[in-house]
Amino acid sequence: MAEKHSIETLRHSAAHLLAQAVKEIFPDAKLGIGPNVENGFYYDFERDTPFTPEDLKKLEDRMRRHIKAAEKFEKIEYSEAEAKKILKDEPYKLELMDDLKKEGEKPTFYKHGNFIDLCRGPHVNSTADLKAVKLTKVAAAYWRGDQNNKQLQRIYGTAFLTKEELELYLKRLEEAEKRDHTKLGKELEIYSTHPEVGAGLIHWHPNGSIIRMEIENFWKTEHIRRGYKYVYTPHIGNIGLWKTSGHWDFYRESMYSPMKIDTVDYLVKPMNCPFHIFIYKTKLHSYRELPIRYAELGTVYRYEKSGVVHGMVRVRGFTQDDAHIFCTPEQLKDEIIGVLELSLFMLQTFGYKEYVIELSVRDPKNKEKYLGEDSGWNKAEAALKEALNTKKLKYRIGEGEAKFYGPSIDIKTIDALGREWQGPTIQVDFNLPEKFDVTYEGQDGKKHRPVMVHRTVLGSMERFVGCLIEHYAGKFPLWLAPTQVKILTITDRCNKAAEELYGTLLDNNIRAELDLRTETIPKKVREAQLEKVPKIIIIGDKEVEAKTVAVRTLDGKVKFGVKISEFIEEILKEIKEKQ
Ligand SMILES: [Zn+2]
Ligand SMILES: [Zn+2]
Repeated sequence: MAEKHSIETLRHSAAHLLAQAVKEIFPDAKLGIGPNVENGFYYDFERDTPFTPEDLKKLEDRMRRHIKAAEKFEKIEYSEAEAKKILKDEPYKLELMDDLKKEGEKPTFYKHGNFIDLCRGPHVNSTADLKAVKLTKVAAAYWRGDQNNKQLQRIYGTAFLTKEELELYLKRLEEAEKRDHTKLGKELEIYSTHPEVGAGLIHWHPNGSIIRMEIENFWKTEHIRRGYKYVYTPHIGNIGLWKTSGHWDFYRESMYSPMKIDTVDYLVKPMNCPFHIFIYKTKLHSYRELPIRYAELGTVYRYEKSGVVHGMVRVRGFTQDDAHIFCTPEQLKDEIIGVLELSLFMLQTFGYKEYVIELSVRDPKNKEKYLGEDSGWNKAEAALKEALNTKKLKYRIGEGEAKFYGPSIDIKTIDALGREWQGPTIQVDFNLPEKFDVTYEGQDGKKHRPVMVHRTVLGSMERFVGCLIEHYAGKFPLWLAPTQVKILTITDRCNKAAEELYGTLLDNNIRAELDLRTETIPKKVREAQLEKVPKIIIIGDKEVEAKTVAVRTLDGKVKFGVKISEFIEEILKEIKEKQ
């Protein structure tokens, strides 16, 4: 009878099958390890000749043959001498076996068909359980992930319970690759990174800078409209700030080494909070002035291991869309509602319609792990809950997942491919007001501690734009598009009219470009489409005479005989409404 196996077991078993096929077709290959990973599995091999895409095909065919043969997975135990004999030509396996011995573990083996591998298991019952298997790519990998070791070839693959699931996954993979922001970011000249400068340090090119500027303008306008005060603060600060805040003790691995200025150590800032606190503290605030909301697009630097730095989404320097709210405990609920409304409004503008919301609260059984008074926590957690309920938002409660200094709301956005990304975070903080002695004067004339809320809506400009490239597949809506209109001419006779239109568009703050080259229209259109320009204008003799244009959009639709004044009116409306 068919037993139900976990997808992990299925995938790991497929790795055995891959190793079997490799040993049969390329007997000189030496075996590394073959675990399952997210979305699939891999197996490492030492072999002088690189595996080609044709090799992967051959290997897949061979694997299929073994699936048909329905070979049973059997657990076998050997004596040390027997095991060493079986693995005599597999140096990496012998090394693993030595490690097991050092740890006092007895090695176990699994056999299916003619293939034996050192493994702990578990596996599927029979190779016939592997109904949908696919090899996806080859990459280089060092033995045990150590650069000083030999470089091996890692063959990746995946397996699913059904063929349909596999097909769906491969389609998504293909779509994700097409949208990959590291690829599109380069093609669309949005950003670059340079080993000569350093890993994870983003250079925003003119196209990327326009996108960022538009987002920042939108962000600033929406914040100022909602009562935030915009501030700018330094990039470095006395190390004492981080000692007071506690970050120097608990967060040091994410911060860069101090630099000496005169005789004092300074740090490049990993966060903006202390600076906003100092602005707040320059005078005594009455309860009547609260809430005070300071907003800043603050560039911070945090250490990330070079191995995890990736494109725009995992970087070492980034600009947070940061804000800190100082309010009374009674004001907290309304402040959270305000942040939720702002967050959802902004995300919806970018076409994010689905969210996963998590409310992180204390572990009620281990209250001593958390800073601050019981009553403060209860009030804050209740305020966050009420705010979410007021906005009728579904959320999951993460008990025990709150940071030691306060409860929080984390919102993950779901993009066009159904992937989750870290979105807005709203963090209540009882710690910093205490550490920096932040106060306000209450109605009773006495000093009280305000509640401090840290919040970001977009997270960081870098990650947000990186995700946005993939979300839009590079086709930015008109208001964000680096070039909004490209004007193409059919013959030189139309150049004058094209230049006039170009001037009119610039006068209306529309980002336009001219293509007057004597190339064919199909070629010019194709190039503009590759640049993902949302509106392509074509001008020929007919258009010059009638004082109209032909408008082609990225979906391939063409509208002929559009009056220039109408076109400008329409485009300005579309930009303004951020359609
Ligand atoms: Zn195994
Ligand atoms: Zn903060």
